[in-house]
Amino acid sequence: MAVCEILSVGTEILLGDILNTNSQYLSRALADMGISVLRHTTVGDNHARLAEAVRTALGRSDIVISTGGLGPTPDDITAEVCCREFGFELEFNAQVAEKIKSYFASKNIDMPESNLKQAYVPKGGDVFDNKNGTAPGMGMKKDGKCLVILPGPPHEMQALFEESIKPYLAEYSGYTIVSHEIRTMGIGESSLAELCSDLLESENPTVAPYCKIGEALLRVTAKARTSEEAEALIAPVIDEIRSRAGEYIYGIDCRNVEDALVPLLKEAGLTIATAESCTAGLIAKRITDIPGASSVFKHGIITYANEVKEKALGVSHDTLEKYGAVSEETAREMAAGVRRVTGADIGISVTGFAGPDADEQGKEPGLIYVALDSESAAVCEKIETGRNDRNFNRTVAASRAMILAVKQLLSNS
Ligand code: ATP
Repeated sequence: MAVCEILSVGTEILLGDILNTNSQYLSRALADMGISVLRHTTVGDNHARLAEAVRTALGRSDIVISTGGLGPTPDDITAEVCCREFGFELEFNAQVAEKIKSYFASKNIDMPESNLKQAYVPKGGDVFDNKNGTAPGMGMKKDGKCLVILPGPPHEMQALFEESIKPYLAEYSGYTIVSHEIRTMGIGESSLAELCSDLLESENPTVAPYCKIGEALLRVTAKARTSEEAEALIAPVIDEIRSRAGEYIYGIDCRNVEDALVPLLKEAGLTIATAESCTAGLIAKRITDIPGASSVFKHGIITYANEVKEKALGVSHDTLEKYGAVSEETAREMAAGVRRVTGADIGISVTGFAGPDADEQGKEPGLIYVALDSESAAVCEKIETGRNDRNFNRTVAASRAMILAVKQLLSNS
């Protein structure tokens, strides 16, 4: 399999002024093509260090892709250094110069003479038109190795890569990579990793854990000659993960809980309504972020004051007096109430302390109750995030309330 190294050029990356998103983008795109990216190197706009980095990268990789440092100013040295290290000369290309001139003309700007520096391209190499800027992409192939030079601005680099560099590298793309993401909630990343510790050792497919707010994920990735072969390698591993952690899995390849919830509701032909306290409409917002949600989302009620919980949702005065607004009893009555008043098939609710301060009775931030009420089930879950981070607590609260509905729908299907 071809091995690639990405070389990011720019002192601003080293200073931390910009985030190196070009490497991230290229790594993903190359992985999709079945090209292994084994190293990212970042180097400043310095002749000697750049030359050394290019030489080293070319010595150990089949493909080297550089981004950045193609501007017209004297500190833009990438083309010159890369070409020299790969044994190519730069030559003036009249066609490229014309394109640069017409790019400026199309924007009604006088072209500084210095921009003609960008019309120097490798003699005997390949030049790729940059529709979004003036510096063209460049490619050179020699002795089985390939060097690609791309401009730094991400939108220029990405368009060039998609349009021109992918086909240019096709001969190196021996494999397909297929990846599936298993999403879980209710178990921490480290506990999930422990449950699957032997699977994490596997090389093909690989199984990698990672986390998002309130969720733990496993990415299962296989390399094979065809996508069918890759899927066949992945299937038994996903089955094994299901057998160990099935109770926590809420979806595979969905972007988030709401993305799992809305299709499940549609499939079941059921509607949902929400009663929210500490999340102030976040659940309703997230459900309705999914296109087509209006066919399943019936109503959302935000209730903060106790009297509104009573009036709008029918939570009993006694319950609020006896157990407080943040309690299992209140959460259950909110879910049942919103179902009753809206006529939805499923009611979900949340009540909790988002923080950062403890409430007047000393209840800690991150104490949250989520509940679900439907014809066949009434459940409530207590969550203690232990965090006094408002955004985190609200995100977790919304997700966990929706998960109750996902689980209910999965168990019925
Ligand atoms: P220009 O002609 O615009 O100068 P260039 O090819 O010389 O293009 P740089 O000067 O290195 O590119 O970078 C231009 C801008 O592109 C940077 O200011 C930054 O915003 C962005 N950029 C450069 N490299 C990266 C990178 N690796 N990741 C994300 N953004 C980058």
